[in-house]
Amino acid sequence: MIPVRDSAHTGCFFIRTFGCQMNVHDSEHIAGVLVDSGYSRAASIEEASVVIFNTCCVRQGAEDRVWGNLSMLAADRDSKRIVAICGCMAQRHGVEIFRRFPIVRLVFGLDALARLPELLESSRGAPICDLGDVNAARIDELSAIRKSGLAAWVPISHGCDNMCAYCVVPSVRGAERSREPGDILSEIATLTDGGVLEVTLLGQNVNTYGRDLGGEENFAWLLQAVGSAEGMRRVKFETSHPRDLGDDILKVMAEADAACEYLHLPVQSGSNRVLEAMNRGYTREYYMERASRARKAIGGVALSTDIIVGFPGETQKDFEDTLDLVKTVRFDAAYMFLYSPREGTSAFGLEDDVPLDEKRMRFAELEFVQSEITRESLGKIVGSDVEVLVEGVAKDGRHIMGRTRDHRVVVLPADEAQEDTLVRAVVCGAGGHSLRGSVKEVIIGPDEATNRHEVQG
Ligand code: SAH
Ligand code: SF4
Repeated sequence: MIPVRDSAHTGCFFIRTFGCQMNVHDSEHIAGVLVDSGYSRAASIEEASVVIFNTCCVRQGAEDRVWGNLSMLAADRDSKRIVAICGCMAQRHGVEIFRRFPIVRLVFGLDALARLPELLESSRGAPICDLGDVNAARIDELSAIRKSGLAAWVPISHGCDNMCAYCVVPSVRGAERSREPGDILSEIATLTDGGVLEVTLLGQNVNTYGRDLGGEENFAWLLQAVGSAEGMRRVKFETSHPRDLGDDILKVMAEADAACEYLHLPVQSGSNRVLEAMNRGYTREYYMERASRARKAIGGVALSTDIIVGFPGETQKDFEDTLDLVKTVRFDAAYMFLYSPREGTSAFGLEDDVPLDEKRMRFAELEFVQSEITRESLGKIVGSDVEVLVEGVAKDGRHIMGRTRDHRVVVLPADEAQEDTLVRAVVCGAGGHSLRGSVKEVIIGPDEATNRHEVQG
């Protein structure tokens, strides 16, 4: 049970974010809108008078975590707290959420974000569902409160025009809409003026940026332009669709100093049969050519991927093709998922015919193979110097952590580095997923970074 403390009704909010970086960034805008209208941030869910779950529905597990969180809040029947749901589950389930959890007072879509303060007030009277039009959502112009002073996420497009057979994203986030280049670049200029050194450009498929704008500007152009912004030190981006990863993008990655040596390139499967059934639009041979072209073009690039295990019809042979691709490409990191059927996707009509035990066995085997490759990749860095943007407390709560240009996690002794700084560290050891380092030099210290911790912009 989570009791509401005395500070309830003084207008403090708590946002819990589930899912991808796009959601994490959307939550920065939710916080910006609420602070603009006089709310303050609560230190914990217990203290909040408004609790917002910004949700994900890409896999059933992600949804179940949200339902579980709602059950916990529902146990506190006397609470006057307003519970609001937004994000992908809001778009997908709408008013159904009220039926399942009557404690929820407000279900809203990103298109309604500008109206959030009024919606919260009105929802005290009766539950409200305001999803607006997901294709019309323009949240980039709204205020944001960013956690870090040195790193920022910047969406360059919203929605997705692909129809990967397993994926619910296009139906909850709408068609691909690229932001105007001028808007992106002026946001970048504001960020770098405020001390930001690193931006991560976000989109479901960044590589098709600009296609819907009908102008000359494409992703290679944008990457070059962002990388040339005054004060910009590191530019990362995700996600790249392999089909749309042109040589022009690799060239900018290779030549622009600020473009980081990191490429997240989801393969999803190593079997041509499964790739076709997934409607991914490339073959394993094409993927491997892109991956090796990237490795050749961009010195020291770290390559990561996503893989789905147990897609409908995946045979042992298909799975072995995936294992073989993983062993050949030797990803520096990989994120693996058990296939999760999603209503509204084209694969939902296919029989989910790989038994769960079999999916789990394949997953464990793949994870084992990849973990050795990741370990070897991390091991090669031991002894070298790396530039680390220090993000905050590490998972163990005792160390501090940050990321290298190639997106590896480096764990540092807490007394050697401070959050929101840029340091040079020597890598002393490697674990299964991260590096251990020791600070050699502070490149940008706490006093030099302006607009610390909570940057409004
Ligand atoms: N636009 C990005 C992110 C999509 S969701 C991209 O194209 O990569 C992130 C990852 O979740 C996907 O890459 C995929 O590996 C995984 N995923 C998506 N739908 C899934 C499903 N139904 N079951 C299991 N994994 C899924
Ligand atoms: Fe989903 Fe495919 Fe679009 Fe990624 S590219 S969001 S996996 S439909």
